[in-house]
Amino acid sequence: MLAENLSQTLQRLENAAVAAGRPAPRLLAVSKTHPAGAVAGLAAAGQRAFGENYVQEAAGKVRDLVALSLEWHLIGHLQSNKAAQAAQLFDWVQTVDRPKLVEALARHRDPARAPLNVLIQVNIDDEGSKHGCRPEDVPALAALVAAQPRLALRGLMAIPAPHEDMALRRDAFRRMRALYEDLAARHAGIDTLSMGMSEDHALAVAEGATMVRVGTALFGPRASGMSP
Ligand SMILES: *Cc1c(COP(=O)(O)O)cnc(C)c1O
Repeated sequence: MLAENLSQTLQRLENAAVAAGRPAPRLLAVSKTHPAGAVAGLAAAGQRAFGENYVQEAAGKVRDLVALSLEWHLIGHLQSNKAAQAAQLFDWVQTVDRPKLVEALARHRDPARAPLNVLIQVNIDDEGSKHGCRPEDVPALAALVAAQPRLALRGLMAIPAPHEDMALRRDAFRRMRALYEDLAARHAGIDTLSMGMSEDHALAVAEGATMVRVGTALFGPRASGMSP
């Protein structure tokens, strides 16, 4: 079942890319709440990159599956007191949204390892309850990340508001694309715009997403009450 879900999801992404005349995005498999065995199953079908929302939950899976050399992304809000652990566990942190986090991640990244890949999370719809920096804060935060040799600035991430009106979602994706292009013009090595989830990935791809994050379509529904 996992292998079939994976091939169907990859096919959907490919179709969306072809329809939009864009390169196919990378697929990030969101494995939050799903056990290490399910991750191993999807890895056996060929998936390498996995996203987790909680440092604590990820720690066990990363440890259990270390022999598989998977690529682990943190996509949930990172509390400052968890930054040290996150810097050691993950290959990517997609939710950097404030200067304090930049310093803490850089300080705790093992110099013997490759730099920690960083995406700046943008609160593109300016939702009071959401995490992410303001669009106008991206340049200053990006400069801080780029100045840290233990960090590699790779791009931007957003979780736009789940508007029913797809025109509003498209508008948020477009504003992200503009921020992303501005960032790429100022910094080398920018190659990742992480936006779009299961239900709006086609729109995100059309507007320039290079990575989409998909959980349910790959692993099935999460137990209720456990999704953030
Ligand atoms: C849970 C989650 C996803 C995946 O959501 P699904 O609806 O299961 O595909 C993607 N991005 C983020 C940030 C998430 O927290």
